[in-house]
Amino acid sequence: MTIKVPFVDLNLQHQPMQSQLLVAIEDVLTKGDFILGQAVSNFEAAFAAASGTEYGIGVASGTDAIALGLQACNIGAGDEVILPANTFVATLIGVVSAGATPILVDCDPQTALIDLEAAAKAITPQTKAIIPVHLYGQMVSPSQLLDFANTYKVLIFEDAAQAHLAEREGYIAGSVGIAAAFSFYPSKNLGAFGDGGMLLTRDSEVAAKMRRLRNYGSSQKYVHIEPGTNSRLDTLQAAVLHQKLPYLSQWNSERLAIAQRYDIELAPLASAGMIPMQNQSGTGHIYHLYVIKIDDSCPIKRQQIQEKLTAAGIQTGIHYPIPCHLQPAFSYLGYQQGDFPQSEQLSQQILSLPMYPGLNNSQITEVITAITSIVKSAKT
Ligand SMILES: *Cc1c(COP(=O)(O)O)cnc(C)c1O
Repeated sequence: MTIKVPFVDLNLQHQPMQSQLLVAIEDVLTKGDFILGQAVSNFEAAFAAASGTEYGIGVASGTDAIALGLQACNIGAGDEVILPANTFVATLIGVVSAGATPILVDCDPQTALIDLEAAAKAITPQTKAIIPVHLYGQMVSPSQLLDFANTYKVLIFEDAAQAHLAEREGYIAGSVGIAAAFSFYPSKNLGAFGDGGMLLTRDSEVAAKMRRLRNYGSSQKYVHIEPGTNSRLDTLQAAVLHQKLPYLSQWNSERLAIAQRYDIELAPLASAGMIPMQNQSGTGHIYHLYVIKIDDSCPIKRQQIQEKLTAAGIQTGIHYPIPCHLQPAFSYLGYQQGDFPQSEQLSQQILSLPMYPGLNNSQITEVITAITSIVKSAKT
């Protein structure tokens, strides 16, 4: 079976800039500064500036950016941290790794983003922070978040792993809270040639502590202020990411244009129970993923739609099939089926369509035509 439309294709972004990437890599080889080299600080400064904030601290992964980032914000044992049940499990892993107590809440079924009314009900005297996850590339409303933080006197720690340069209400992802975690996993909107992550902050003390935590808790060689760890962004990865950064806005715009075609041309299927996730942030949505919901009124089940698309050479995904509170690893938290009905329902209904810069018009047409005919033929 030939794949006509893959779910992602990273070659399309790397091929046109390959010689440039190789020069940057060669430069690191020549310099030999593999650990915390020049390219790391250059990229940290460039990404922080692009995101409208002050300091960037590169780490080994997005998960570490959350785990160490929370610690850098002095969030840990005895502190409750509110986060959505509907996120990639790494958000939860980060909270637990930091030693804090995770408090999960449900999401808004229209956007799949954290439900701030549910979050308000979860506030206790121990609540120290909320982690809005800018899921699928759409920011949680900054104005509502800032109101929330102000009302309940809690910190905002953004999980922006899917939201590089996303915007909403004049804010850029990573500039809203005390700090924000990013991932450079290869398929993220800005991806490395391996793992990588970064914490952004405009707080100099958080930045200084984060620099120590990623480097054995040390700010001066062989003097260790706290028991940190070894989690640094490789110089090689930083060099690659710095070359790619200038293209990011263009790539994000391409994703938005693809989403706009999907939105318009899939709209007729809404009456058949197939509904795209709502974009509440206009052109600031960077569409890390394009997700549709297939509700119970649809004449054909999600699994069958996915199988038929696969048979037609179109790859799709499900982000994510099991909400955090139902993951076996976290059963000890005591949550149960039924605790977060919107997250549970979404996990059964969502389907992610092919979305990447370079996805061409005939491929988009292919996807839209295939879905439309699958739904139409199920109706009759
Ligand atoms: C990818 C991702 C992470 C984790 O990043 P890694 O670099 O894979 O460790 C965390 N949160 C969300 C929402 C993500 O999508």
